[in-house]
Amino acid sequence: MLNQIKGLHHVTSLASSANRNNAFFTNALGLRRVKKTVNFDAPDVYHLYYGDEHGSPGSVMTYFPFPRAAQGTPGVGEVGRTAFVVPVGTSAAWQKRLSDHGASGVTTDTRFGESRVLFNGPDGDAFALVERDDGRTPWTGNGVSEDMAIRGFHSADMRLQDEGGSAELLKFMGYEEIDRSGNVTRFAVPHGNGADAIDIETIPSAGRPRQGAGSVHHIAFAVENRARQLEVREALLDTGYQVTPVIDRDYFWAIYFRTPGGVLFEIATNEPGFDRDEDTAHLGEALRLPSQHEHLRARLERTLEPIT
Ligand code: ZN
Repeated sequence: MLNQIKGLHHVTSLASSANRNNAFFTNALGLRRVKKTVNFDAPDVYHLYYGDEHGSPGSVMTYFPFPRAAQGTPGVGEVGRTAFVVPVGTSAAWQKRLSDHGASGVTTDTRFGESRVLFNGPDGDAFALVERDDGRTPWTGNGVSEDMAIRGFHSADMRLQDEGGSAELLKFMGYEEIDRSGNVTRFAVPHGNGADAIDIETIPSAGRPRQGAGSVHHIAFAVENRARQLEVREALLDTGYQVTPVIDRDYFWAIYFRTPGGVLFEIATNEPGFDRDEDTAHLGEALRLPSQHEHLRARLERTLEPIT
């Protein structure tokens, strides 16, 4: 069993309008945009990152906005809901804030003893805010006060036809089964970064998803550095997973593989981080391009949707 993985690193989803996406995550949720760049594999599309002050691993929600994308259809074999931690006792205030900002599907429930506010993002993406004591420092620069601000991720919720192979994989990655209720099993990694949990929700009768705006594209797990990442890569290869070579994403190093249930997993390094090419005080303000796409800057600045 591996011990290098320390929880989630980031969650990456698809969106339609970059402007609407940016407004929701910065104004309604109060996250900081920590990077405005492009999809390194398809530079005509933005890659927008939102998180805490530094874009700490375990706090970073990222989007590829395709202006004309149709909304995705949920199904099994994907991440169905992404959850953030908020302070205990803030559900009512969050319900009001989300409704005031036009979020749809705002409702509450309880899972494994924790109160949650459920809501949809601008493209129907499913989110939860989970009440929990959490020592992580929130970003408060976008008008959400420290006593209610988002602390980072709580968990991601994988919706699967059956949990078998994926539960085995999580255990191999260092996760432990910590609770089970109805069709939901919760796994958590010990000594994680706070974004420690993965829920598997089993829905045998559901169909395959059609990916589109609002769908989660992949979830990334955090490892400290490139040495730990290579250890994980070797172990996954030895177990029979098809894992990509290590890819330089400028702000982290990435490897990708698909789980038995169909979800795309990434393992991303905590190094070098989002302040490698910008002052912390100005993270996310300017369009940053990876060196291989810098020659496209003039065209991209003309064609990418201006974010106001
Ligand atoms: Zn990623």
